[in-house]
Amino acid sequence: MNLLEEAYTRLYPGSQQSLSFCLDYSGHFRGYGGVIKLHVFQKQLSCKISTKWEGVSESIQIGFLQSLIAKLNKTKRSTVEMDLYLQYIRNLSKHAVKYHFEPELSTAFDMVNTQFFDGVMDKPNLRWRNSKNPLGTYEYATDTISISTLLTPHPHLLKYVLYHEMLHKKHGFKQSGLRQCSHGAVFRAEERKFPEWERLEKELTRLVSQHGSLKESFFSRLTKILE
Ligand SMILES: [Zn+2]
Repeated sequence: MNLLEEAYTRLYPGSQQSLSFCLDYSGHFRGYGGVIKLHVFQKQLSCKISTKWEGVSESIQIGFLQSLIAKLNKTKRSTVEMDLYLQYIRNLSKHAVKYHFEPELSTAFDMVNTQFFDGVMDKPNLRWRNSKNPLGTYEYATDTISISTLLTPHPHLLKYVLYHEMLHKKHGFKQSGLRQCSHGAVFRAEERKFPEWERLEKELTRLVSQHGSLKESFFSRLTKILE
């Protein structure tokens, strides 16, 4: 039994299933990522997770795999292993090594931090990414905000997207539904404290439609968390 099968069996104890399970480790993830896919016709559940998971205790890996399976199946259930995994990720964030501050993003961060967070937020890693979708991400495990280079010529939009990602850092890892990227009512209310947010949203929509991408691919995160 591989870890994926074990994760599945422990998540759905006593369930009858005729799936085969395929688990691979891949060096293509920068952080502690993973993707999961159900091949309906082959009756195979296949999962690829970051090589960073190799060497992490099996129970924690099982917790991560279970959270991927639960997302895929929209199962609202938590297990001891999932709790261990959450604790592990929380600690990673606390102890994440700070190694990368892009100067331009660092300046923008300081401005937004002073204006909206009383300057008390610890600076996360700040990097540019070439991807157009999403425009911004916050990765909890490595405490890293990544901003699309598409925003470089638009400092006011950059500040707004940065603010959004800083709110993710502030609100942290939401346990409910194990959602990495949570845009609940509290989050949205706070997001709207940004001056002229409506106009900026429209500008962002225009910008991304010119480049054929979305502001933030929320749904892709359901199966592709911790990218
Ligand atoms: Zn978000």
